[in-house]
Amino acid sequence: MKLGNQILGPADFSFDYFINNGFIGCSCSKCAEKLIITIQLHNSGKPVDQIIDEFDETILNQLIEHKIVNLNRDGKQGDLGFSKYILWHLDALYSIITCKSCSFNFLAIFGIGEIQPGRDQVQFKGIWELKD
Ligand SMILES: [Zn+2]
Repeated sequence: MKLGNQILGPADFSFDYFINNGFIGCSCSKCAEKLIITIQLHNSGKPVDQIIDEFDETILNQLIEHKIVNLNRDGKQGDLGFSKYILWHLDALYSIITCKSCSFNFLAIFGIGEIQPGRDQVQFKGIWELKD
């Protein structure tokens, strides 16, 4: 499995946006069905390190190579404790999105946390196709 085309670009959202039932939406690049991503604060996504438990290392290597996620070189502790991969200084999280119409899989990358003191945000990096 590897990353294909990026179908949605980066955006930052306030926590309030999701608390007020906000969602991230785009269209499936295979069948044009609407894809809807909701984010539950502190309860969405898995650390990017764990991506190798679901797939092989190819996707993780592509994420690093394309600077979609960064190695946590400073060993900074995030909300989840030590996280091997980060987005700027948030723990890098991923989530698999499956199109309910054609079953094609997509990968969403994001971080959730305090970007500046007192300013909680969802830093959304984008959505990519997952190709064989
Ligand atoms: Zn589809």
